[in-house]
Amino acid sequence: MPGGVNSPVRAFKSVGGQPIVIDSVKGSHMKDIDGNEYIDYVGSWGPAIIGHADDEVLAALAETMKKGTSFGAPCLLENVLAEMVISVVPSIEMVRFVNSGTEACMGVLRLARAFTGRQKVIKFEGCYHGHADAFLVKAGSGVATLGLPDSPGVPKAATSDTLTSPYNDIATVHSLFEANKGEIAAVILEPVVGNSGFIAPQPDFLNGLRKITKENDALLVFDEVMTGFRIAYGGAQEYFGITPDLTTLGKIIGGGLPVGAYGGRRDIMEMVAPAGPMYQAGTLSGNPLAMTAGIHTLKRLQEPGTYEYLDKITSELTQGILDAGKKTGHAICGGYISGMFGFFFTDGPVYNFEDAKKSDTTKFARFYRGMLEEGVYFAPSQFEAGFTSLAHSSGDIEQTISAAERVLRMYK
Ligand code: PLP
Repeated sequence: MPGGVNSPVRAFKSVGGQPIVIDSVKGSHMKDIDGNEYIDYVGSWGPAIIGHADDEVLAALAETMKKGTSFGAPCLLENVLAEMVISVVPSIEMVRFVNSGTEACMGVLRLARAFTGRQKVIKFEGCYHGHADAFLVKAGSGVATLGLPDSPGVPKAATSDTLTSPYNDIATVHSLFEANKGEIAAVILEPVVGNSGFIAPQPDFLNGLRKITKENDALLVFDEVMTGFRIAYGGAQEYFGITPDLTTLGKIIGGGLPVGAYGGRRDIMEMVAPAGPMYQAGTLSGNPLAMTAGIHTLKRLQEPGTYEYLDKITSELTQGILDAGKKTGHAICGGYISGMFGFFFTDGPVYNFEDAKKSDTTKFARFYRGMLEEGVYFAPSQFEAGFTSLAHSSGDIEQTISAAERVLRMYK
Protein backbone atom coordinates (compact mmCIF):
# COMPACT_ATOMS: atom_id res chain seq x y z
CA MET A 1 0.00 0.00 0.00
CA PRO A 2 1.48 3.39 -0.93
CA GLY A 3 3.00 4.85 2.24
CA GLY A 4 1.62 1.86 4.14
CA VAL A 5 -1.83 3.42 4.39
CA ASN A 6 -5.10 3.59 2.51
CA SER A 7 -5.62 7.29 3.18
CA PRO A 8 -2.67 9.71 3.39
CA VAL A 9 -4.01 11.45 6.51
CA ARG A 10 -3.26 8.29 8.53
CA ALA A 11 0.46 8.45 7.76
CA PHE A 12 2.93 9.94 10.24
CA LYS A 13 4.91 11.74 7.53
CA SER A 14 4.60 15.19 9.09
CA VAL A 15 5.10 14.07 12.71
CA GLY A 16 7.75 11.40 12.13
CA GLY A 17 7.74 7.64 12.69
CA GLN A 18 5.41 4.93 11.53
CA PRO A 19 1.64 5.03 11.98
CA ILE A 20 0.35 2.83 14.77
CA VAL A 21 -1.75 -0.10 13.62
CA ILE A 22 -5.08 -0.38 15.38
CA ASP A 23 -6.51 -3.66 16.57
CA SER A 24 -9.75 -2.50 18.19
CA VAL A 25 -11.72 0.53 19.38
CA LYS A 26 -14.25 1.04 22.16
CA GLY A 27 -15.78 4.22 23.59
CA SER A 28 -13.11 6.92 23.70
CA HIS A 29 -10.22 4.45 23.42
CA MET A 30 -8.24 2.65 20.73
CA LYS A 31 -5.91 -0.32 21.21
CA ASP A 32 -3.02 -1.03 18.85
CA ILE A 33 -1.77 -4.45 17.75
CA ASP A 34 1.02 -4.28 20.37
CA GLY A 35 -1.58 -3.86 23.13
CA ASN A 36 -0.99 -0.12 23.77
CA GLU A 37 -4.09 1.93 24.62
CA TYR A 38 -4.79 5.49 23.55
CA ILE A 39 -7.40 8.11 24.34
CA ASP A 40 -8.60 8.88 20.84
CA TYR A 41 -9.34 12.42 19.60
CA VAL A 42 -9.62 11.46 15.93
CA GLY A 43 -12.82 9.42 16.22
CA SER A 44 -12.25 7.84 12.81
CA TRP A 45 -11.99 11.44 11.49
CA GLY A 46 -15.37 12.44 12.88
CA PRO A 47 -17.97 9.67 12.71
CA ALA A 48 -17.44 8.32 16.27
CA ILE A 49 -19.37 11.11 18.06
CA ILE A 50 -21.19 8.72 20.40
CA GLY A 51 -18.00 6.75 21.02
CA HIS A 52 -16.53 3.82 19.14
CA ALA A 53 -18.29 0.47 18.80
CA ASP A 54 -21.39 1.58 20.69
CA ASP A 55 -23.31 -1.47 22.00
CA GLU A 56 -26.69 -0.32 20.66
CA VAL A 57 -25.28 0.41 17.20
CA LEU A 58 -23.56 -2.99 17.13
CA ALA A 59 -26.76 -4.77 18.19
CA ALA A 60 -28.81 -2.93 15.55
CA LEU A 61 -26.22 -3.80 12.90
CA ALA A 62 -26.37 -7.48 13.88
CA GLU A 63 -30.18 -7.42 13.47
CA THR A 64 -30.03 -5.68 10.07
CA MET A 65 -27.30 -8.03 8.89
CA LYS A 66 -29.61 -11.03 9.39
CA LYS A 67 -31.69 -9.63 6.51
CA GLY A 68 -28.69 -9.21 4.21
CA THR A 69 -25.90 -6.74 3.65
CA SER A 70 -26.93 -5.01 0.42
CA PHE A 71 -30.16 -4.94 -1.57
CA GLY A 72 -29.41 -2.72 -4.58
CA ALA A 73 -33.08 -1.76 -4.35
CA PRO A 74 -34.92 0.66 -2.05
CA CYS A 75 -35.14 -0.26 1.64
CA LEU A 76 -37.18 1.36 4.39
CA LEU A 77 -34.09 2.27 6.39
CA GLU A 78 -33.19 4.85 3.71
CA ASN A 79 -36.51 6.58 4.31
CA VAL A 80 -36.00 6.55 8.08
CA LEU A 81 -32.58 8.18 7.86
CA ALA A 82 -33.73 10.59 5.12
CA GLU A 83 -36.58 11.77 7.36
CA MET A 84 -34.25 12.17 10.32
CA VAL A 85 -31.94 14.34 8.21
CA ILE A 86 -34.69 16.37 6.51
CA SER A 87 -36.48 17.09 9.78
CA VAL A 88 -33.46 18.77 11.39
CA VAL A 89 -31.05 20.16 8.80
CA PRO A 90 -32.66 23.50 7.90
CA SER A 91 -31.60 23.61 4.23
CA ILE A 92 -32.47 20.00 3.37
CA GLU A 93 -35.88 19.37 1.82
CA MET A 94 -34.71 16.39 -0.24
CA VAL A 95 -31.64 14.22 0.19
CA ARG A 96 -29.58 11.74 -1.87
CA PHE A 97 -27.37 9.23 -0.03
CA VAL A 98 -23.97 8.29 -1.47
CA ASN A 99 -20.96 6.44 -0.05
CA SER A 100 -18.48 9.12 1.01
CA GLY A 101 -18.02 12.83 1.57
CA THR A 102 -16.05 13.01 -1.67
CA GLU A 103 -18.97 11.62 -3.63
CA ALA A 104 -21.35 14.01 -1.88
CA CYS A 105 -19.21 17.01 -2.86
CA MET A 106 -18.82 15.74 -6.46
CA GLY A 107 -22.59 15.38 -6.71
CA VAL A 108 -23.34 18.77 -5.22
CA LEU A 109 -20.91 20.53 -7.57
CA ARG A 110 -22.46 18.90 -10.64
CA LEU A 111 -25.91 19.78 -9.32
CA ALA A 112 -25.01 23.44 -8.67
CA ARG A 113 -23.65 23.70 -12.21
CA ALA A 114 -26.66 21.93 -13.71
CA PHE A 115 -29.16 24.11 -11.83
CA THR A 116 -27.54 27.47 -12.53
CA GLY A 117 -26.21 26.68 -16.01
CA ARG A 118 -22.90 28.22 -14.85
CA GLN A 119 -19.46 26.63 -14.54
CA LYS A 120 -17.42 28.55 -11.99
CA VAL A 121 -17.23 27.79 -8.31
CA ILE A 122 -15.56 29.60 -5.42
CA LYS A 123 -13.82 27.54 -2.74
CA PHE A 124 -11.59 28.65 0.13
CA GLU A 125 -7.89 28.02 0.62
CA GLY A 126 -7.33 25.23 3.12
CA CYS A 127 -10.89 23.88 2.86
CA TYR A 128 -11.15 20.23 1.82
CA HIS A 129 -14.12 18.90 -0.10
CA GLY A 130 -12.85 15.42 -0.87
CA HIS A 131 -10.46 14.33 -3.58
CA ALA A 132 -12.46 15.01 -6.75
CA ASP A 133 -10.43 16.86 -9.43
CA ALA A 134 -12.28 20.20 -9.28
CA PHE A 135 -11.65 20.56 -5.54
CA LEU A 136 -7.92 19.79 -5.48
CA VAL A 137 -7.01 23.46 -5.63
CA LYS A 138 -5.35 24.97 -2.56
CA ALA A 139 -7.01 22.18 -0.62
CA GLY A 140 -6.74 21.36 3.07
CA SER A 141 -6.38 18.09 5.00
CA GLY A 142 -3.78 15.56 3.75
CA VAL A 143 -2.82 17.67 0.73
CA ALA A 144 -2.04 20.60 3.03
CA THR A 145 -0.18 18.35 5.48
CA LEU A 146 2.00 16.97 2.69
CA GLY A 147 2.47 20.44 1.16
CA LEU A 148 0.72 19.32 -2.03
CA PRO A 149 -2.20 21.71 -2.36
CA ASP A 150 -2.58 20.75 -6.02
CA SER A 151 -2.13 17.23 -7.41
CA PRO A 152 -0.45 15.97 -10.56
CA GLY A 153 -2.94 14.03 -12.64
CA VAL A 154 -5.65 16.64 -12.28
CA PRO A 155 -6.26 18.09 -15.77
CA LYS A 156 -6.01 21.88 -15.97
CA ALA A 157 -9.46 21.95 -17.50
CA ALA A 158 -10.90 20.30 -14.37
CA THR A 159 -9.77 23.15 -12.13
CA SER A 160 -9.90 26.11 -14.50
CA ASP A 161 -13.36 26.99 -13.17
CA THR A 162 -12.38 26.68 -9.52
CA LEU A 163 -11.73 30.15 -8.06
CA THR A 164 -10.20 30.49 -4.61
CA SER A 165 -10.26 33.01 -1.79
CA PRO A 166 -8.70 33.10 1.67
CA TYR A 167 -11.19 31.96 4.34
CA ASN A 168 -12.94 34.72 6.31
CA ASP A 169 -12.18 37.20 3.50
CA ILE A 170 -15.45 38.55 2.17
CA ALA A 171 -13.72 41.35 0.21
CA THR A 172 -11.95 38.80 -2.03
CA VAL A 173 -15.23 36.97 -2.60
CA HIS A 174 -16.81 40.29 -3.64
CA SER A 175 -14.05 40.94 -6.15
CA LEU A 176 -14.33 37.41 -7.57
CA PHE A 177 -18.04 37.97 -8.17
CA GLU A 178 -17.26 41.37 -9.75
CA ALA A 179 -14.67 39.86 -12.09
CA ASN A 180 -16.86 36.88 -13.06
CA LYS A 181 -20.31 38.42 -13.36
CA GLY A 182 -23.06 35.90 -14.14
CA GLU A 183 -20.57 33.02 -14.25
CA ILE A 184 -20.38 31.74 -10.68
CA ALA A 185 -22.58 28.73 -9.96
CA ALA A 186 -21.79 28.35 -6.27
CA VAL A 187 -19.71 29.21 -3.26
CA ILE A 188 -18.76 26.09 -1.29
CA LEU A 189 -17.13 26.09 2.13
CA GLU A 190 -16.65 24.35 5.42
CA PRO A 191 -18.82 26.58 7.66
CA VAL A 192 -16.33 25.82 10.43
CA VAL A 193 -12.97 24.72 9.03
CA GLY A 194 -11.54 21.43 10.26
CA ASN A 195 -9.19 20.68 7.39
CA SER A 196 -6.56 23.39 8.03
CA GLY A 197 -6.77 22.70 11.72
CA PHE A 198 -9.73 24.26 13.53
CA ILE A 199 -10.72 27.70 12.21
CA ALA A 200 -14.01 29.36 13.16
CA PRO A 201 -15.86 31.71 10.81
CA GLN A 202 -15.62 35.36 11.84
CA PRO A 203 -18.87 37.15 12.72
CA ASP A 204 -20.65 38.15 9.49
CA PHE A 205 -18.54 35.96 7.19
CA LEU A 206 -21.27 33.35 6.66
CA ASN A 207 -23.91 36.08 6.58
CA GLY A 208 -21.87 37.98 4.01
CA LEU A 209 -21.63 34.87 1.82
CA ARG A 210 -25.37 34.29 2.10
CA LYS A 211 -26.02 37.86 0.99
CA ILE A 212 -23.56 37.96 -1.88
CA THR A 213 -24.68 34.59 -3.33
CA LYS A 214 -28.33 35.72 -3.22
CA GLU A 215 -27.50 39.03 -4.91
CA ASN A 216 -25.69 37.16 -7.70
CA ASP A 217 -28.13 34.26 -8.18
CA ALA A 218 -25.40 31.85 -7.14
CA LEU A 219 -25.90 28.95 -4.74
CA LEU A 220 -24.41 28.76 -1.27
CA VAL A 221 -23.19 25.27 -0.38
CA PHE A 222 -22.22 24.29 3.15
CA ASP A 223 -19.92 21.28 3.20
CA GLU A 224 -21.08 19.85 6.52
CA VAL A 225 -19.39 16.47 6.07
CA MET A 226 -17.48 17.27 9.26
CA THR A 227 -19.72 19.79 11.07
CA GLY A 228 -23.09 18.11 10.35
CA PHE A 229 -24.59 16.72 13.58
CA ARG A 230 -21.31 17.61 15.31
CA ILE A 231 -21.40 21.25 16.29
CA ALA A 232 -25.18 21.10 16.69
CA TYR A 233 -27.79 18.47 15.83
CA GLY A 234 -28.81 20.54 12.77
CA GLY A 235 -25.15 21.29 11.96
CA ALA A 236 -23.41 24.63 11.47
CA GLN A 237 -26.45 26.02 9.66
CA GLU A 238 -28.52 25.55 12.81
CA TYR A 239 -25.70 26.78 15.06
CA PHE A 240 -25.14 30.01 13.10
CA GLY A 241 -28.73 30.44 11.88
CA ILE A 242 -27.73 30.68 8.22
CA THR A 243 -29.45 28.48 5.66
CA PRO A 244 -27.47 27.54 2.55
CA ASP A 245 -29.14 26.30 -0.65
CA LEU A 246 -27.35 22.95 -0.63
CA THR A 247 -25.54 20.90 2.01
CA THR A 248 -23.21 17.93 1.99
CA LEU A 249 -23.04 15.44 4.86
CA GLY A 250 -20.99 12.34 5.68
CA LYS A 251 -19.10 10.89 8.65
CA ILE A 252 -21.63 10.98 11.56
CA ILE A 253 -24.69 10.09 9.46
CA GLY A 254 -23.01 6.77 8.67
CA GLY A 255 -22.14 5.99 12.30
CA GLY A 256 -18.75 4.59 11.25
CA LEU A 257 -19.86 2.92 8.02
CA PRO A 258 -19.24 4.45 4.57
CA VAL A 259 -21.87 7.14 3.85
CA GLY A 260 -22.21 10.59 2.37
CA ALA A 261 -25.24 12.66 1.40
CA TYR A 262 -26.17 15.83 -0.38
CA GLY A 263 -29.41 17.67 -0.11
CA GLY A 264 -31.10 21.02 -0.19
CA ARG A 265 -33.94 22.99 -1.70
CA ARG A 266 -36.55 20.81 -3.37
CA ASP A 267 -36.51 22.81 -6.64
CA ILE A 268 -32.76 22.20 -6.95
CA MET A 269 -32.77 18.56 -5.80
CA GLU A 270 -35.52 17.72 -8.29
CA MET A 271 -32.86 18.08 -10.98
CA VAL A 272 -31.20 14.88 -9.73
CA ALA A 273 -31.90 11.70 -11.79
CA PRO A 274 -34.34 10.07 -12.06
CA ALA A 275 -36.50 13.04 -10.93
CA GLY A 276 -34.50 15.26 -13.30
CA PRO A 277 -31.64 15.07 -15.81
CA MET A 278 -28.53 15.47 -13.61
CA TYR A 279 -26.97 12.02 -13.44
CA GLN A 280 -25.44 10.51 -10.32
CA ALA A 281 -25.70 6.91 -9.14
CA GLY A 282 -24.17 4.30 -6.76
CA THR A 283 -24.14 0.49 -6.42
CA LEU A 284 -24.02 0.58 -2.60
CA SER A 285 -25.72 3.94 -1.98
CA GLY A 286 -28.27 3.79 0.84
CA ASN A 287 -26.73 0.53 2.04
CA PRO A 288 -28.86 -1.00 4.84
CA LEU A 289 -25.94 -1.45 7.26
CA ALA A 290 -24.74 2.12 6.80
CA MET A 291 -28.32 3.43 7.18
CA THR A 292 -28.72 1.40 10.40
CA ALA A 293 -25.52 2.73 11.97
CA GLY A 294 -26.53 6.27 10.97
CA ILE A 295 -30.06 5.98 12.36
CA HIS A 296 -28.89 4.65 15.73
CA THR A 297 -26.11 7.21 16.00
CA LEU A 298 -28.53 10.07 15.34
CA LYS A 299 -31.04 8.59 17.82
CA ARG A 300 -28.40 8.76 20.55
CA LEU A 301 -27.58 12.34 19.63
CA GLN A 302 -31.24 13.30 20.11
CA GLU A 303 -31.01 12.52 23.83
CA PRO A 304 -31.15 15.62 26.04
CA GLY A 305 -27.87 17.15 27.11
CA THR A 306 -25.77 15.72 24.27
CA TYR A 307 -24.39 18.94 22.86
CA GLU A 308 -24.09 20.54 26.30
CA TYR A 309 -21.89 17.62 27.33
CA LEU A 310 -19.75 17.85 24.20
CA ASP A 311 -19.39 21.58 24.77
CA LYS A 312 -18.38 21.08 28.41
CA ILE A 313 -15.67 18.48 27.86
CA THR A 314 -14.30 20.11 24.71
CA SER A 315 -14.11 23.47 26.44
CA GLU A 316 -12.26 21.89 29.40
CA LEU A 317 -9.87 20.13 27.05
CA THR A 318 -9.13 23.20 24.92
CA GLN A 319 -8.74 25.51 27.92
CA GLY A 320 -6.56 22.92 29.66
CA ILE A 321 -4.17 22.69 26.71
CA LEU A 322 -4.01 26.48 26.36
CA ASP A 323 -3.27 26.79 30.09
CA ALA A 324 -0.60 24.08 29.82
CA GLY A 325 0.99 26.13 27.01
CA LYS A 326 0.98 29.25 29.21
CA LYS A 327 2.41 27.44 32.23
CA THR A 328 5.23 25.94 30.19
CA GLY A 329 6.00 29.03 28.10
CA HIS A 330 4.83 27.80 24.67
CA ALA A 331 2.88 30.07 22.33
CA ILE A 332 -0.29 28.10 21.63
CA CYS A 333 -3.62 29.40 20.34
CA GLY A 334 -6.74 27.35 19.84
CA GLY A 335 -10.48 27.12 19.94
CA TYR A 336 -13.47 24.82 19.84
CA ILE A 337 -17.14 24.64 19.01
CA SER A 338 -19.10 21.82 20.58
CA GLY A 339 -17.29 18.54 19.85
CA MET A 340 -14.69 19.97 17.45
CA PHE A 341 -11.45 21.66 18.51
CA GLY A 342 -7.92 22.54 17.50
CA PHE A 343 -4.80 24.37 18.50
CA PHE A 344 -1.78 25.83 16.73
CA PHE A 345 1.76 26.43 17.94
CA THR A 346 1.62 30.16 17.27
CA ASP A 347 0.32 33.23 19.10
CA GLY A 348 -2.45 33.58 16.53
CA PRO A 349 -5.07 34.65 15.85
CA VAL A 350 -5.74 32.17 13.03
CA TYR A 351 -8.41 33.32 10.57
CA ASN A 352 -7.29 31.41 7.48
CA PHE A 353 -4.85 28.85 6.12
CA GLU A 354 -2.00 31.38 5.73
CA ASP A 355 -2.29 32.14 9.48
CA ALA A 356 -2.42 28.40 10.24
CA LYS A 357 0.82 27.86 8.34
CA LYS A 358 2.61 30.16 10.82
CA SER A 359 2.30 27.35 13.35
CA ASP A 360 5.61 25.82 14.44
CA THR A 361 5.13 22.36 12.92
CA THR A 362 8.41 21.06 14.35
CA LYS A 363 7.10 21.81 17.83
CA PHE A 364 3.79 20.23 16.93
CA ALA A 365 5.57 17.06 15.76
CA ARG A 366 7.51 16.82 19.07
CA PHE A 367 4.34 17.45 21.04
CA TYR A 368 2.54 14.84 18.93
CA ARG A 369 5.09 12.12 19.56
CA GLY A 370 5.22 12.97 23.26
CA MET A 371 1.46 12.71 23.56
CA LEU A 372 1.47 9.38 21.74
CA GLU A 373 3.99 8.07 24.30
CA GLU A 374 1.58 9.29 26.99
CA GLY A 375 -1.27 7.32 25.40
CA VAL A 376 -3.09 10.16 23.64
CA TYR A 377 -3.91 9.90 19.94
CA PHE A 378 -4.43 13.19 18.09
CA ALA A 379 -4.62 13.54 14.29
CA PRO A 380 -1.03 13.20 13.04
CA SER A 381 -1.00 16.66 11.46
CA GLN A 382 -1.07 20.27 12.61
CA PHE A 383 -3.64 20.91 9.89
CA GLU A 384 -6.48 18.73 11.16
CA ALA A 385 -9.15 19.43 13.79
CA GLY A 386 -9.71 17.13 16.76
CA PHE A 387 -12.96 15.53 17.87
CA THR A 388 -14.46 14.61 21.22
CA SER A 389 -17.32 12.17 21.78
CA LEU A 390 -20.02 11.37 24.32
CA ALA A 391 -17.75 8.53 25.46
CA HIS A 392 -14.94 10.88 26.56
CA SER A 393 -15.03 11.18 30.35
CA SER A 394 -13.80 13.96 32.58
CA GLY A 395 -11.05 11.51 33.53
CA ASP A 396 -9.96 11.24 29.88
CA ILE A 397 -9.81 15.02 29.63
CA GLU A 398 -7.86 15.43 32.89
CA GLN A 399 -5.43 12.71 31.84
CA THR A 400 -4.92 14.43 28.47
CA ILE A 401 -4.31 17.84 30.01
CA SER A 402 -1.79 16.58 32.54
CA ALA A 403 -0.03 14.62 29.79
CA ALA A 404 0.09 17.78 27.65
CA GLU A 405 1.66 19.71 30.51
CA ARG A 406 4.33 17.04 31.05
CA VAL A 407 5.13 16.84 27.33
CA LEU A 408 5.25 20.60 26.84
CA ARG A 409 7.55 20.96 29.84
CA MET A 410 9.87 18.33 28.39
CA TYR A 411 10.18 20.11 25.03
CA LYS A 412 10.69 23.60 26.39
N1 PLP B 1 -15.65 17.42 3.08
C1 PLP B 1 -15.14 17.62 4.30
C2 PLP B 1 -15.42 18.90 5.02
C3 PLP B 1 -14.33 16.64 4.88
O1 PLP B 1 -13.81 16.86 6.10
C4 PLP B 1 -14.08 15.45 4.18
C5 PLP B 1 -13.21 14.40 4.76
O2 PLP B 1 -12.56 14.55 5.73
C6 PLP B 1 -14.65 15.28 2.92
C7 PLP B 1 -15.43 16.28 2.40
C8 PLP B 1 -14.42 14.01 2.15
O3 PLP B 1 -15.08 12.95 2.76
P1 PLP B 1 -14.59 11.43 2.53
O4 PLP B 1 -13.26 11.29 3.16
O5 PLP B 1 -15.68 10.62 3.20
O6 PLP B 1 -14.58 11.22 1.05
